[in-house]
Formats: sequence, structure tokens, C-alpha cells
Amino acid sequence: MARLPYSGGMIAFHRVGLEYPRTGTKALYNVNLEVKKGEFVYVVGHSGAGKSTLLSLILRRLLPTQGAVYFAGQNLKSLRGDQVALHRRRIGMVFQDHRLLSDLTVEENLAFVLEVQGVPRKEWPERIATALRRVGLAHKKRAFPEELSVGEAQRVAIARALLLDPPVILADEPTGNLDLENALQVLDILKAAHSRGATVVVATHSRELLEAYPARVVVLKAGQVVRDERPGEGGSIRVRESPDRGGKEGT
Ligand code: ADP
Repeated sequence: MARLPYSGGMIAFHRVGLEYPRTGTKALYNVNLEVKKGEFVYVVGHSGAGKSTLLSLILRRLLPTQGAVYFAGQNLKSLRGDQVALHRRRIGMVFQDHRLLSDLTVEENLAFVLEVQGVPRKEWPERIATALRRVGLAHKKRAFPEELSVGEAQRVAIARALLLDPPVILADEPTGNLDLENALQVLDILKAAHSRGATVVVATHSRELLEAYPARVVVLKAGQVVRDERPGEGGSIRVRESPDRGGKEGT
């Protein structure tokens, strides 16, 4: 296994560049980032800054075109075949849109995940009940997605992402479609998962979230990390402008 360039990181980006091959778009440049186990991190930046690309690299939907992404010390590039699916089981992913299956009820949507993941059927009722209780929607288990409000549907999507108690949760604009009240409910669920020990990375535009639950903030601008700030750093901002926009990234 390749040596981890940083110590103790759950997720580590080492000089990561990402160029989408079909269009030649350079989405990330020389990104260095370490997220420790149990951290809560916001990734902020304008649309097109590279937030989704960064999350896709952690999920290993994409491989970096420069540098390396490590997860629990393992270079994700080294994963083969089945290992990719096993890797993704360690991650609960939440998107802006809920992506529930419209012809299945809430509990069937959750059972579908358990079936795909090979969880023994006798464990399903308790897992589903726990997941729905955590998002305050036990009473909606027989509803179809179209019978839910936008906020409720998003909370079911989070219940689905948390079903297998993944050590890492990635959320891509999870409150993008929600009003403030619903956004704060979603944030509360993510905070609760964090307090149970999960490492949480949230890509967001929402200043309200950052104010409601201050945590580390990584700012992406045009594919580069331009700020990385933890609460309580008293305004001392570590600026990591990378002068070489994709030019000199080594290995
Ligand atoms: P954000 O999530 O911050 O809005 P993205 O990571 O989606 O940013 O996009 C970063 C850049 O990569 C943008 O210029 C975007 O147009 C481009 N991009 C995103 N996805 C693709 C793709 N599948 N193919 C080509 N370019 C893409």
C-alpha cells in the first residue's frame, strides 16, 4: 500500500488535479486536503468551483488525473473490482435531490438498499425503524415519495444514506432545495451522525448552515483550495493559493 502523505487522515488529497477527459475541463488544481476521522467539514465555493468533483473523487466515481486521493490510508486508485463497491459502502451519500424510487414506499426504498447490500432480512425492520426514527419520520414509512414534502423526502434520503452506519457521510448541497427550517432539520440529522462518530463532509452554498453549526470550512475557488479555516482559529486563515494552475504538479 502506498504510504499516506499525511498522518491520521480519514480522507487525504495529495496534490490532486482533475481534468475531465471528454471536455478537457480542469476542475481541480493541486488540491491538498486532509480530513481527520470524526471531523465535520464544509466545502464551500461558487457553482463550478469543483465541490461535486471533490466529492466524486472521494466516492471514487472519478480518479484524479494528477496526484492521489487516500481513504483510511489507502490510495483509491489501487482499488480493484469488488473493492470499489466495498469502498462505497463506507460512505453515505446525500444529494441535493432526494433520488428516492418513486414507485416504492419509504420503507421499501430503505429495504431496497439493504437487499442490494446483502443485509440479512431479519435485520431489516430494526435498521429501517432506527433510520427513520433518527430523521423523525417513523410515521411515514408507508408513504410514497410523492406523498412527502420536499423536506421530508430529503430526510428519508438521509435515512437511506445512514442505514448502514457508514463511517463517512458526504453531502452535496443537501439543503439546496429546502427552506431554512427544513435545512436546519437536515443539518441537525447530519450533526447527530457526526456526534455518533461519523466523518462528515458537506458541500454547500448556504451561509445559514455555516452559522448554525460552525465547523471547519474549506473554500474552493476555480478548482483550488483558497482557504481552510477551523472555528476558534481566531481569524487566522491559512491561505493555500497554488501558483501553478496544473502546471508543475508532481507525483
Ligand atoms: P461545483 O460542485 O462546485 O458546482 P463541479 O465540481 O460540478 O463544481 O464542476 C467543476 C467544473 O467541472 C465546472 O467547470 C464544471 O462545468 C466541470 N464539470 C463538472 N462535471 C463535469 C463532467 N462530467 N464533464 C465535464 N466537465 C464537468
